[in-house]
Amino acid sequence: MSAELYKQCATIGCNKQVKDYRQQQGKETCFACEYWYTQLANPQDTAVVAWDNGELVHYRLCSKDSDMKGFYGDVFTITKEKTGEVFRWNNVWYQGPIPEALHGLFLETRPLVRLFRNYGQKQL
Ligand SMILES: [Zn+2]
Repeated sequence: MSAELYKQCATIGCNKQVKDYRQQQGKETCFACEYWYTQLANPQDTAVVAWDNGELVHYRLCSKDSDMKGFYGDVFTITKEKTGEVFRWNNVWYQGPIPEALHGLFLETRPLVRLFRNYGQKQL
């Protein structure tokens, strides 16, 4: 018999399981959910979400002056879905698709945008 014990992740709608070693550390959520809760709690930088082929993807808009830039510093044209406001940004970092169980939480707390990457364009 396996020595590992599992229990259900505490996130409603998440069907992943929390492994024994994480339970021993007092973790109630699976590794993936914890990653995204950490993202949610991170007050640094501006974060946005965008739909991409049915997935809700999380991006961070980091300092425009940083030496290290996401997408090689390509300028993005970003449109806020709700207001139609358009702005440009040159330091966008992709953080991956958010698990479906957490979509509601992120849609409530992050602006939903459309991103257009201006390939090779570095000037804002
Ligand atoms: Zn989970």
